[in-house]
Amino acid sequence: MTSPIPEVAAQPLTTAGQPQLLVVECPRCGATHRHLAAGERRAPCGARYLIDRTPTEQTS
Ligand SMILES: [Zn+2]
Repeated sequence: MTSPIPEVAAQPLTTAGQPQLLVVECPRCGATHRHLAAGERRAPCGARYLIDRTPTEQTS
C-alpha cells in the first residue's frame, strides 16, 4: 500500500551551471524548492512529491 504522492508543477530554472526545476509552492510548507530532476523527490522540509515534467518549449 503506497500513499498517494501529490504532484506539483515545476518551472525550469536555468542557472549558469545546470538546469534546475523550481517547485514554486511546496504542498507542505508553501516555500519554493529547487531540484535537479523531475520525478519523485523529497524536499528539504521533508515533503514528498512528484514533480511534473514540464512540456518542453521550443527554443529558437
Ligand atoms: Zn517544502
